[in-house]
Amino acid sequence: MKKILVTGGAGFIGSHLCERLLKEGNEVICLDNYFTGRKQNIIHLSHYPYFELVRHDIISPYFIEVDEIYNLACPASPVHYQYNPIKTIKTSVMGAINMLGLAKRLKAKILQASTSEIYGDPEIHPQPEGYWGNVNPIGPRSCYDEGKRCAETLFMDYHNQNNVNIKIVRIFNTYGPNMNPGDGRVVSNFIVQALKGEDISIFGNGKQTRSFQYVDDLVEGMLRMMGTENDFTGPVNLGNQNEFTMLQLAETILDLTNSSSKLIFKPLPQDDPKQRQPDISLAKKYLNDWEPKVQLSEGLTKTIEYFESELKIGQKTKMI
Ligand code: NAD
Repeated sequence: MKKILVTGGAGFIGSHLCERLLKEGNEVICLDNYFTGRKQNIIHLSHYPYFELVRHDIISPYFIEVDEIYNLACPASPVHYQYNPIKTIKTSVMGAINMLGLAKRLKAKILQASTSEIYGDPEIHPQPEGYWGNVNPIGPRSCYDEGKRCAETLFMDYHNQNNVNIKIVRIFNTYGPNMNPGDGRVVSNFIVQALKGEDISIFGNGKQTRSFQYVDDLVEGMLRMMGTENDFTGPVNLGNQNEFTMLQLAETILDLTNSSSKLIFKPLPQDDPKQRQPDISLAKKYLNDWEPKVQLSEGLTKTIEYFESELKIGQKTKMI
């Protein structure tokens, strides 16, 4: 049995990761400050005897004995990371320093949840890991993009200077149950609007594309990355290559929910990337032929079921 620390474990991806690690027989310590995470996401795991919850902010150091660390703590959607941009960049940078310091002392493996935002508004399509990106350092998204870029730098420096066993994954758009209904991400927005029969807001002309990865595929990739040999650090892209326009996504969701919602068009937010698609050759090569398995309609169906039950609870408690 391994003892594993998951920072940001009460968030969307973290909750799925904790569940998978527990199912595989590990001891899991879930650390979170509950900024965007929710106890609801992990409460169903409380029957596992080797599951522990810690309320802590990774801006401050944390001391514990573990074998592995998954560092996911950081708000991931623009509404949340732009709410307090200084706090966001502190979480990425100081959080990375604190967790890397811990990994160094313990000689523990540490995985960083980096992001496709590293590539900014890319000029190369699809994006391989060797592409350095096109990021605005002083725009509204910079606290997140540059914070994550700096965290990658810190991970590499701790590896090169102190021989810390690091793994970096660059996560592309991921969706699934436990997404926060109010986080303004396109999948959750469209589903909630469709289920409530409200207008579906499309930013720009709806022809900008994204690739959507189901959370189970991502968690599988993260576990495989953690299991790679010492000298493979990444960064490695984890994402789905199938591209969809925002219009196609909205229409699929309307179909699956049988909704009569109308599409309305709004101006594109500043620095919004027009196209993003991962090159996953490296993941296939090093992660035992890893590739996403879950089709969009299958993943959306599970996500819609989750939001339906959330909306029912919300109506009872007037939460949503
Ligand atoms: P999320 O907001 O649901 O989860 C983040 C978790 O971190 C939350 O539980 C939050 O409370 C916690 N947190 C935030 N700041 C903290 C701090 N200072 N100390 C302790 N806990 C803190 O987001 P998510 O979608 O689950 O993302 C998880 C990670 O994956 C993030 O690092 C994010 O940048 C990365 N990522 C996600 C996506 C995606 O599509 N969801 C894409 C790329 C990268």
